Amino acid sequence: TEAPPGLDPKRLGELLDEERARWIEARPRSAALRERARRSQIHGTPQHWINQFPPPVPLTVERAAGARLYDVDGHEYADFGLAGTAALWGHDHPAVVTALRDQLGRGSVTLWSHEDHVWVTEELRHRFGLPFWQFTVSASDANRFALLLAKVTTGRRRILIFNRAYHGSLEQTAAVLSPDGEVIPQPGVEPNGVDVRETTKVVEFNDLDALERALAPGDVAAVLAEPVMTNGGAVIRPEPGFHAALRDLTRRTGTLLIIDETQTIPAGPGGCTREFGLEPDLITMGKCIAGGVPAGLYGMSDTVAAAAARYTEHGDGGLGSTMASGPLAVRAMRAVLGEVMTDDTYARLDRLGERYERDIAAVIARYDLPWHVGRLGGRVSYAFTPGPPRNAGRLYPSVGSAARKALWLYMANRGIVVNAMSGGGLMSPLTAEADVERHGALFAEAIGALTGRSG
Ligand code: PMP
Repeated sequence: TEAPPGLDPKRLGELLDEERARWIEARPRSAALRERARRSQIHGTPQHWINQFPPPVPLTVERAAGARLYDVDGHEYADFGLAGTAALWGHDHPAVVTALRDQLGRGSVTLWSHEDHVWVTEELRHRFGLPFWQFTVSASDANRFALLLAKVTTGRRRILIFNRAYHGSLEQTAAVLSPDGEVIPQPGVEPNGVDVRETTKVVEFNDLDALERALAPGDVAAVLAEPVMTNGGAVIRPEPGFHAALRDLTRRTGTLLIIDETQTIPAGPGGCTREFGLEPDLITMGKCIAGGVPAGLYGMSDTVAAAAARYTEHGDGGLGSTMASGPLAVRAMRAVLGEVMTDDTYARLDRLGERYERDIAAVIARYDLPWHVGRLGGRVSYAFTPGPPRNAGRLYPSVGSAARKALWLYMANRGIVVNAMSGGGLMSPLTAEADVERHGALFAEAIGALTGRSG
């Protein structure tokens, strides 16, 4: 078993085995459902990645409420994973539930305009600063359409992403840097429909020299970037001056800038765009924006909107989807934007996040581990690096590693669920303060068990 600095590989392997056995032992109904599912689902899971998560039998949910999960074997968990930001507002926020109940009596899909659409796009314009907005079914789709419109606007075909960024299930963004700096398909995606060496440039986050070299030929339609990288829940901050230089380099080379806010909504009521004063040409988002109803959005500048309007005047241009902008999703967005994404909510996320971060920092210090904890509002994550990670390239292969799995299982076996890939935690307005405290105590206990020391 490979272990991060500070942990003993043998002990880690033993703990992982123990925690796996303990998990299975206490979950006979989940195990039986998994076996049944194997006959009609690949890997016996509704989405393939659940099979790669730490538990040997998936957490099989009976219901979710507040910021808690209840499984079919009678276990209750404080949920800090929150569906990878999709359940950021909690599983049953009263404002969202009330709006959806009412909307169910008024129709779920019409393929026509509603007043709610106008309310939402006006609100987005005000919050995020971009004038024009369109609806999608997911954040993946928002990125797909944003990239297409960037190509339409610039007449260029290539795009640029930062190494190990995740922007959804898009063929063109499934590219990473090899150890010797070549663009290669992300492990596990070949063969897909594109040759990423032709379509995609990749540089490390915070590497402005590499970015300048990559944009210099003037053949990139857009840089697609998270404002803070959040791989699987991590927090990788831009270094001072990074965003200003990114904007300057993109402008000087006629390259559009797309900011993917899907995971950075926990930073503030206008995402990082408002928090950092960014000036992107396009913004994309999804996940939590409709409080749990599938939905995404992309916003654009006047210039991109004018190109998009010309492009779609006589055909569909490969944009859109029948189920995008359905009234259920849009009504939920109105509730989220109007009643949930408030300054009060963000103050609470910040307060809970601070406590959660402080507890992890204290354990890292107490055990003298060369690890780092970072926070973006209500998102907290630790990395097996002595200081803050500069880029996501450095986080791999520790994401999904044995240590992550052992920590996840140790905590989940005792009633706390964190992000299944990174171990990161998300605060929701429904998160109980007592659960945050419990997390701190349990994290200390888990590290004690992993190191075999009492700290
Ligand atoms: N952008 C980012 C930054 C993401 O993390 C994700 C998903 N984790 C997506 C886009 C795609 O979201 P979805 O899977 O909901 O389409």
